[in-house]
Amino acid sequence: MYEANDELLRSHLYMNVINSLEKAGEHITINRNVLERLKKPRRAIRVSIPVRMDDERVEVFNGYRVQHNHTLGPFKGGIRYHASVSMGEVAALASLMTYKNSLLNLPLGGAKGGVQVDPSVLSKVELEALTRRFTSELSPFIGPDKDIPAPDVGTDSETMAWMLDTFSLESGFSQTGVVTGKPVEIGGSRGRDSATGLGVVYIAEKTLETMDRSLSGASIAIQGFGKVGMHVGIEAHALGAKIVAISDVKGGIYNPNGIHISELLRYMKKNKFVKDFPETTPISNEELLSLDVDVLCPCALDAVIHEKNMHNIRAKIIVEGANGPLTPEASEHLTRSNVLVVPDILANGGGVVVSYFEWIQDIGWLFWSEQEVRNRLKEIMTNSFKKVWNFSRTYQSKENKYNLRLSAMSVALLRLEKAMKLRGQAW
Ligand code: GLU
Repeated sequence: MYEANDELLRSHLYMNVINSLEKAGEHITINRNVLERLKKPRRAIRVSIPVRMDDERVEVFNGYRVQHNHTLGPFKGGIRYHASVSMGEVAALASLMTYKNSLLNLPLGGAKGGVQVDPSVLSKVELEALTRRFTSELSPFIGPDKDIPAPDVGTDSETMAWMLDTFSLESGFSQTGVVTGKPVEIGGSRGRDSATGLGVVYIAEKTLETMDRSLSGASIAIQGFGKVGMHVGIEAHALGAKIVAISDVKGGIYNPNGIHISELLRYMKKNKFVKDFPETTPISNEELLSLDVDVLCPCALDAVIHEKNMHNIRAKIIVEGANGPLTPEASEHLTRSNVLVVPDILANGGGVVVSYFEWIQDIGWLFWSEQEVRNRLKEIMTNSFKKVWNFSRTYQSKENKYNLRLSAMSVALLRLEKAMKLRGQAW
């Protein structure tokens, strides 16, 4: 393919995705050629991004966009700003987007982008310059009909507004549909900010129902209190769940009787982090992961539950708010131990679902109320959960009765295979 191939194979996350592709391939009858094609992304773009820093120095950052597959529709996926970003990581996340969009029945392919940078050490002026230059470098490859970026770790609606403006300036006219997750005032969708977290909560609710439990009164621990975790906290609390523990990069807090979320949000306006919030005790990240709760939501980065700490997990349900928070070993071990692990491509799909709503609202120049967005989101998340749940029963293997990761991947692959066959792409 291209020189990036070796880099992909060196990435743990990329190999993890290949691993779950292979595993699903062993369980379903699927054309081998389809699997082989999906193992490599269609296109990988690497760019250098020179930025004049505030002290007049020029720093050159590495930027990536990987377009994995567009059989089902235009490429779609977020842009990540993080120091750990690499071609392999971006390619893995791009392929997860292909499976996520397929599973959710969206007319979209999969892509992901990223810049190797710690955004917290850049000034706003530097971040804007970085984003604008990155967008210029990507502009031949993106567009409302081609590839539509969105926020991910380290980026937000402001980043999307800069991307939209740069792309529109270069095209000579306003193209609001080139990105999703932008501010409502410039074509964003109502409810996009809370969408991923809300989707996680709908999925947690459905999973609890399979155990004849309801969300109301269920205990929840949330790792990561950013764009995803914060909204999991707000939405789950509103539906009566008891949020007993929360952690962010600076540390965690614990209260077995439930944390008062609106007070915490007020506290964070001043203090930025959850640390030292009154009426809670401090808790480490590892302690949070091993709490005996009904639902554990890892909503930060990948590989936080792995071979070394997987034996400590006591939660009954894990809902993956982040992409790839469990390593394959951890996922398999917990599934064997009867923990219901709801995989990322299903659990955190709410973000891209509302991105899809935003994209069609932009194309139609007609905007929906927040309630309409929430209703439609609930319908898609619930239907997708049902599909995966029903599929998981067909395995009937005693030790892996409810292997939701394998089932989600299988449902996604079967839809892709069908589409590839119809398009004459599967020989
Ligand atoms: N970054 C989010 C994800 O991983 C959203 C992607 C999008 O909205 O395109 O699903």
